[in-house]
Amino acid sequence: MKNRISDPRGITPVAALVRGGTSFLICGHVRPDPDCIGSQLALARGLSRLGKRSELWLADPVPENCRFLPGSERIRTPSADGRAFDAAFVLDTPRPERLGVIADLVRGMPVTVNVDHHPSNTRWAAHNVVDPHAGATAELIHALLAELGVSTDRDIAVCLYAGLLTDTGRFCYSNTTPGIHRMAAELIEAGVKPEKIAENIYASARIQKIRLLARVLATLERDGALAWIRLTQAMYRESGASPEDAEGFVNYARDLEGIRVALLFEEGADGGSTRVSMRSRDARINVDRIAGRYGGGGHGAAAGAVVPGRMEDVERRVLDDVRNALGGA
Ligand code: 5GP
Ligand code: MN
Repeated sequence: MKNRISDPRGITPVAALVRGGTSFLICGHVRPDPDCIGSQLALARGLSRLGKRSELWLADPVPENCRFLPGSERIRTPSADGRAFDAAFVLDTPRPERLGVIADLVRGMPVTVNVDHHPSNTRWAAHNVVDPHAGATAELIHALLAELGVSTDRDIAVCLYAGLLTDTGRFCYSNTTPGIHRMAAELIEAGVKPEKIAENIYASARIQKIRLLARVLATLERDGALAWIRLTQAMYRESGASPEDAEGFVNYARDLEGIRVALLFEEGADGGSTRVSMRSRDARINVDRIAGRYGGGGHGAAAGAVVPGRMEDVERRVLDDVRNALGGA
C-alpha cells in the first residue's frame, strides 16, 4: 500500500527489475517519432551507465530528423529473436500491435515493461508504467533513470529533450506543465543546446518536402471550424518526397484561425487504405476516441488511424463523423 501512495506510477518495481538483470531489450512503435526514439536511447544509455547491456529494436527505420540523436545507429529491425533478455521495455506504445512487425517477437518475451503516456494504453504488459498526465514518454524515462540513480549526462539530456520538445508541440500544447519546463531546464543545464535540437528536428527540411507541402496545402478546404488537407501517392511521385516528409503537415490546417478540428487524409501506397491524421483544439472533442472507431488511437488532441477504403470514401465517412462531433460539442 505504501508503494502505491509513494510510487503512483509503479516505477519502484521496474527499477528493481533493472537492478536485478543484465540484458534488456528496448522497443517502440511503428512510424517512430522523437519521443519514442529519444526515450529508447536515453534508457539504453542509462542502462549502459549501470553496466547493463541493451538492444534496440524498431519495426520502421529511424527517420532522418532523429538520426542526430546519440546512439540512433544502434537501432535495428530484427528478423528473428536469437537472444534472451531479462526484460523487454516497450516505450510510447499503447497497444502491442503498434509494435508492427516486431510485435510477435516482443510479446513472446518472458517479462515485458510498458512505459507510456497515451490515455488509451491498455496496460497490456507484465509491468506498466503508464501515466496519461505525462507530457511525453521521455518524462517517465527521466523519472525511471532518477530512481535508478543515473545522473543526466549530455547525451541522455539531448534524447529526452527531443521527446519533450516534440510531444508538447515545441512547448505549446496544453500538456506543457510546470514539471515539463522544470525538466527542460534541467536538461539544458546538463548540456542541451535548444537551438541545435530545434535545427535538427524542425529546420533540416529537404527541398522535396517543401515541394510536397506546396501540393498538399493547395488542397486545403474549410467548413466552419473544420479544416482538412489531402495527400495522394501522385504527390509523392511528383515531389520525390517520402512519407516521413509529411510529418506535421496536418498542423498547417490545425493552425488556421477559428479551427477546432483539422484532418489530413493520405492515400495508402496500395490505394486500398487511407491514413487519417486528426488534431483537435477543442478539449470537448477527443480525437483519440474518434480515431478509435476506425481502429486507430493517440491522444485527445492528436490521433491517427489507417482506414480500409479509397481516399474519397474514407474522407466522406470521417468528415461526417467529425461534423457530428462538432455539432454535439
Ligand atoms: P500523427 O497524426 O502525427 O501520425 O499521429 C498523432 C498521434 O496519433 C500519435 O500519438 C500517434 O501515436 C497516434 N497515431 C497515429 N496513427 C495511429 C494509428 O494508426 N494507430 C494508433 N493507435 N495511433 C496512431
Ligand atoms: Mn509520446
